[in-house]
Amino acid sequence: MTATSRPDARRNASPYLYGQEAGAVARVLESGQYGHTAVTEEFERRVAGFLGVPDAVAVASGTAALHCALLAAKVGPGDEVIVPSMTFCATAQAILAVGATPRFVDIDPTTLCVNDRLVMEAVSGATAAVIPVLFGGRAVDLAPVRDELAERSITVIEDAAHAFGSRNGMRRVGATGALTCFSFGPIKNLTCGQGGVVVPRAPEEADTIRQVRLLGVAQSQSERANATTYHVDTFGLRYQLSGINAAIGLAQLDHFGTTEHARRRLWHAYRKALATLDGVILVDVDADHSVPHLCQVRVPHRDQVFADLRARDVGVGVHYPPNHLQPAFATWHRPLPATEQAAAEILSLPFHQHLTETDIDLVVSALAQALEASGGA
Ligand SMILES: *Cc1c(COP(=O)(O)O)cnc(C)c1O
Repeated sequence: MTATSRPDARRNASPYLYGQEAGAVARVLESGQYGHTAVTEEFERRVAGFLGVPDAVAVASGTAALHCALLAAKVGPGDEVIVPSMTFCATAQAILAVGATPRFVDIDPTTLCVNDRLVMEAVSGATAAVIPVLFGGRAVDLAPVRDELAERSITVIEDAAHAFGSRNGMRRVGATGALTCFSFGPIKNLTCGQGGVVVPRAPEEADTIRQVRLLGVAQSQSERANATTYHVDTFGLRYQLSGINAAIGLAQLDHFGTTEHARRRLWHAYRKALATLDGVILVDVDADHSVPHLCQVRVPHRDQVFADLRARDVGVGVHYPPNHLQPAFATWHRPLPATEQAAAEILSLPFHQHLTETDIDLVVSALAQALEASGGA
C-alpha cells in the first residue's frame, strides 16, 4: 500500500454505523430492562416485515440461530446433516451441538456454494437436513430438488449469515419457504453487535425456538413476576437477543436501503478495477440480486500474495479454511477436491462501507504488485 492509503483499507471487514445506534442503546439502558424485551419483539416484527414473512425469531447469534433451527427441525443423534466444508466453523459446530454428524460436501468452484447435484449425491438414509451456505451473499437455489428432499423428510436449513437482504428471484432470502438463519454479528450486512434470527416455516417451529432461547421456561417475564414458580418445559439455553442488541439492529434497519446500495456499488467498483488484472478470478456473488458480503478473488501463489499484501497494510483475509481439515471435525474428513483447491487460492479483499472507490483502486494496484512480486500468473 502507498503512503496515501487510508486506514480503512487495512481492515478486511468493519461494522458501519449510521449515527442513531448509540442513542437507541442509551434509551434501552435508561429503561432498566436489558433482557428479552419489547425492543427485541419490535426487532422481530421489523425483520419479518422487511423480509416479507409472517414471523421471525430473534436469538443471540447466528450460531444460536443454526442450533435452534436444527432443534426445531428435530435433528439429533444418529442423524446426518449435509453441509459444505467451505463455511465458517459455526455451521459445523451447530451440527455437533445437536449430537448429529456433519456430512461434508464439495462446492461448485465458480460460486463456492453447494448445488442440487452435490447435495443429492450425498443423501443417504441417515440424512435429516441439508444446510446450504449462501456464500458471499449469493442465494442458493435448491428448488429443483425441493420436492425430492421433502419426500425423504430432509429439512433445508439455509445458512444465510452472509445474505441478509439478498434476493432469490423476486423474494428476499428467508421468504422462499426454507428454514432460514441470519447472523447479525459485528461484520455482517446488518449488525446488532451480536445477534441472529431464525425464519421459521410454521408456528410450531417458532414456538419451539422461542422456548429454547429462554432456557425452556414456558412463561414470559411479566407472567413470572406474578407467580411463585416457573415451568421448565423443555431443553433450552440462554439464547435470547438482548434489547440492547435489538436496538442497534433496529437503527441499522432504518438505513438498510443505503447499506444495500453501497455494498453493491463497492462490489462493482472492485469488479471493474479487477478486470484489468490477469490471472485473478473474481468469485461471482450475483451482485445484482444479492447484498454482497465478501469480495473474494482466486489467485496463484495465494500464501505469498497474502503475506505481501499484509506487509503492505492491506486487510486481506481468507474465508474460510475448510472444516473437513480442522482437528475438531477430523472424524468426518473426506476428500473434497474443489474445496481444497479453492482453499489454496481464495483471498478476501477489504470489503466494508468505510471504503472509498479510491481505496479500492489502491487495493487493486497493491494486489497487482503483490502478484507480480510472486512471479505472476
Ligand atoms: C457469521 C457466520 C455464522 C455465525 O454467526 P455468529 O453470529 O457469528 O454466531 C454462521 N455461518 C456463517 C457462514 C457465518 O459467516
